Amino acid sequence: MKHVSLLGSTGSIGRQTLDICARFPAELQVAALAGGSNVELLAAQALEFRPRLVAVADESKYAQLKELLGAAAADMEVLAGEAGVIACAEAAEADIVLGAISGVAGLKPVLAALQQGKDIALANKEVLVAGGQLVMPLAKEKNAALLPVDSEHSAIFQCLQGEVKPQKLWLTCSGGPFWEYPAEQLPHVTPEMALRHPNWSMGAKITIDSATLVNKGLEVIEAHWLFDMDYDDIEVLVHRQSIVHSLVSFADASVKAQLGLPDMRTPIQYALLYPNRPENALPKLDLTTTPPLTFVKPDTDRFPGLRLAYEAGRRGSGATVAFNAANEALVHAFLRKEISFGTITDGLSAVMSRDWPALAADLDTVVALDAEARELAARFTKGGKL
Ligand code: NDP
Ligand code: MG
Repeated sequence: MKHVSLLGSTGSIGRQTLDICARFPAELQVAALAGGSNVELLAAQALEFRPRLVAVADESKYAQLKELLGAAAADMEVLAGEAGVIACAEAAEADIVLGAISGVAGLKPVLAALQQGKDIALANKEVLVAGGQLVMPLAKEKNAALLPVDSEHSAIFQCLQGEVKPQKLWLTCSGGPFWEYPAEQLPHVTPEMALRHPNWSMGAKITIDSATLVNKGLEVIEAHWLFDMDYDDIEVLVHRQSIVHSLVSFADASVKAQLGLPDMRTPIQYALLYPNRPENALPKLDLTTTPPLTFVKPDTDRFPGLRLAYEAGRRGSGATVAFNAANEALVHAFLRKEISFGTITDGLSAVMSRDWPALAADLDTVVALDAEARELAARFTKGGKL
C-alpha cells in the first residue's frame, strides 16, 4: 500500500490521478489533497477519498471549504495558504507526492517533500524548468525517486529501464491546434481557439503552451534535468497522432519507443505503481485502426517559443527561471484577453534578450529572478516593448 499526497488535486492531472487511485484501492491510499481555489471540487474529493489532510491554497476559501466538509472536517486537518499546501507535501504518512500544481507555484512544495525524503511523481514540469538545479541534487542527497508523469518523459523513462545511457532523446510533439494554420493568421487566434487541443484535454495554461510549442520547450528543459542529457542530444519530432509518446536512440543505432493511446492515466499509474503494471481496464491501442503515424521536424520560425527554450536551457538556470516566469505571465495575460497570441512569444523573446545569470543557485535567487521576469513581461504586455 502506498500513501499518496496529491498536490493540485482539482486540476486535470489531479482528477485523473484520483481516477487511478479509485481503480487501485488496495495499492493506493490518498493521504493528503491540496487544491488552488476550487473548494467545491476539493471538498467533494475529500469526502470521497477521506485523506487526513486537506489544503486550499486560496486562504479566502478556507471557511467555505470547512463548511462544505461539514461533520467530516472533524476527522481531517483542514489547512489553507502556501503553508497548508506545503504541510500536505510533508505529510508524515505520505510515501509519494504527486506534483500536479500548474506553474512555478509547485516548486516550494516539491522541495519541501524532498527535504522529508518523499518520492515524487512529477507532472508539474515548471518545477524542473525553474528549479531543476535545486530539485535534482536534493533528490539525490535524500535518495528520493523522481518519477516522471509528463507522457513524453514517462515514455523515455520506460524505454530506459535496464538500459545503458542513450545517445539521443526524441520528444514527440502533437504540434498543437495551429500546426497547419496559415502563418499570417497565427498572431490573431483567440483563447477559445487555442484551448481546443486536438488530442489531449488539459488545464488552460499547458493547453496554451502546447499551442505556442513553448510546452515542448519546457519539456526539453525537463528532459535535460531528468535524464542528465545535453541539449544537443535532445530532439523534437512533430507527431500529429500522439501515439508514440517519445523515443530514445543508442550508440548501436537501435531505437526504442513507447506507444499508447493519448491518456494521461497511463503515465500517472506507471509513476504511482512503478515498477508494476497491473491491469487497469483502460482502452487499449489497436495499431491496425490508428491513422498512419507521421514524424516531421518542428518549424521554429513559426513557433519561436521552442527555439527560445533551447536557448534559455543552454544559457543556464537563471535564464530558464526567467523564461518560465515570463511565459506564465504572458499566457495568463493572453487568457485574460489582454494580449494577442503572437504577443506571447514576442514578449518571451524580449524578456530573454535581457542578461540573465547562468545559475540560480538557491530558492531566493529563483524567487527574485522569477519576479523580475514577470515584471518585464507585464511591462511588455502594456507597451509592446521593453
Ligand atoms: P490545471 O490547471 O488543470 O490544474 C492545476 C492545479 O493546480 C489545480 O488543482 C489548481 O487548483 C492547482 N493550483 C493552482 N495554483 C495553485 C497553488 N498556488 N497552490 C496549490 N494548488 C494550486 O493543470 P493541469 O492538471 O493540466 O497541469 C498540472 C501540471 O501538470 C502542469 O505543470 C502541466 O504542465 C503538467 N502536465 C499536465 C498534463 C495534462 O494532460 N493536463 C500533461 C503533462 C504535464 P484550482 O483549480 O482549485 O484553483
Ligand atoms: Mg507532455
